[in-house]
Amino acid sequence: MGGGVRLSRNFTLAEMDRHGEAEPHHVEALRALALDVLQPIRERWGSLTVTSGFRSAARNAASGGSPTSQHLLGLAADLVPVQADPIDVWCWIASSAVPFGQVIYEERRRPDGSLARWVHVSSAADGIRGQVLRSPTKGVYLRAR
Ligand SMILES: [Zn+2]
Repeated sequence: MGGGVRLSRNFTLAEMDRHGEAEPHHVEALRALALDVLQPIRERWGSLTVTSGFRSAARNAASGGSPTSQHLLGLAADLVPVQADPIDVWCWIASSAVPFGQVIYEERRRPDGSLARWVHVSSAADGIRGQVLRSPTKGVYLRAR
């Protein structure tokens, strides 16, 4: 798929499928995620850096991702707000009308000791709806409500 494909007003296929590995049905899932979930978040919070969108099975395994990750289906994205705190964005999504499946505030310690912080958000396409979690470390997911 061409890198110039726009999924919604502010999201392109290139940023959601950085390695150009999404199949057409993944692209459709990414489009729905961008239109229904990411765009309303963008409109409230300004620019969002997509640090991970679609992941191929090989890339997901290599990065230690869960084998059932919604990133494999094009149903999830990891977001770092450019001008806001990820916790604020996470809280807002949780109580908003955005039709999300899961929203997770995630923290991971980098090798250099700094803390990576982001918001994972998925569409409700696979039936999970409105789950709010936080993940303070790899493999630990705590229900926040
Ligand atoms: Zn994620």
